[in-house]
Amino acid sequence: MKKLVLLALLVACIPLTAHARNLDIYWIDVEGGAATLIVTPTGQSLLVDTGWAVPDDRDAKRIFRVAQKAGVKKIDYLVVTHYHGDHVGGVPALAKLIPIEHFLDHGDSVEAQHPRWGKDWEAYKAVVAGKRTILKPGDKLPLKDVDTLVVTADGHTLASPVKGAGGTNPYCEGAQRKPADKTENQRSVGLLLTYGKFKFLDLGDLTWDIEMDLACPVNKLGTVTLFQATHHGFTNDYSGAPAHVLALKPQLLIVNNDKMKGWHNAAWDTAAKIQGLEDIWQVHQAIGPNRDHNVKPEQIANLEGPPDEGRGLMASISPEGKITVTNERTGFSKSYTTR
Ligand SMILES: [Zn+2]
Ligand SMILES: [Zn+2]
Repeated sequence: MKKLVLLALLVACIPLTAHARNLDIYWIDVEGGAATLIVTPTGQSLLVDTGWAVPDDRDAKRIFRVAQKAGVKKIDYLVVTHYHGDHVGGVPALAKLIPIEHFLDHGDSVEAQHPRWGKDWEAYKAVVAGKRTILKPGDKLPLKDVDTLVVTADGHTLASPVKGAGGTNPYCEGAQRKPADKTENQRSVGLLLTYGKFKFLDLGDLTWDIEMDLACPVNKLGTVTLFQATHHGFTNDYSGAPAHVLALKPQLLIVNNDKMKGWHNAAWDTAAKIQGLEDIWQVHQAIGPNRDHNVKPEQIANLEGPPDEGRGLMASISPEGKITVTNERTGFSKSYTTR
């Protein structure tokens, strides 16, 4: 009898999550902002960006809904890539919905006086006063089972290439340079997560000038498995330098756009040239000037027209490197093998 009770207790203790040992990444629909929730195999949580400040706290609520679905009770680390309202705006509302243990960012805003973004920066400062950690390239976040390296911050890049990278980049020859960007986008914190062979890159809204610093003359990042397409899917020609994007050779591109953002013409053409690219997934169907640039509907989380239910995309990565991407709207999923 005692044995049976013990067995029952043991069974009760087994976590019910289907992918207890996988790395899970959720792209939350914040209507053209960014919010990426990462849950490690041992259940630590890292949120990168928080969407907009909107009167009904829409984006904070959407993040909270996904966190609950993922079984996350607190955000262990919040990284704000930069202080544009579509990335930092959700922080005050989110902090009321769920405990946030650590706030990490690139340092003070360079657009504190900006007529549109200044208030988002002030609201963030009020929440995180005394609790901020400033990130520098080369820093690592203290996640237990995933290597989390800061590759850009405050307009600077890694001093030396990551392990296994650093070869001369053939795409640099004749590559276009652009002047230094003066906005918060250029200051974006960029993160490279490594889990076994799988590598995930999120560079926020990083700009062309810094992309070129990462890529030329040597490609400091090497290749990646899954790339969150920068600036909501290369919304304009400030991001998406071909020498950078082509050298990364991502297997998968995830575009967290809204219906008007993403897929500047030149970037769509660049994506078509990526060697070994297996697939692209989008959070929204593009219906603006970019409407000719869409993937198959089953790989889009929100289609044109109401109701926009704020559906997202998710990737679950096994310890062996099997990647399963799922569309929350339809449940459609597809698997890939990390090279
Ligand atoms: Zn943005
Ligand atoms: Zn931005």
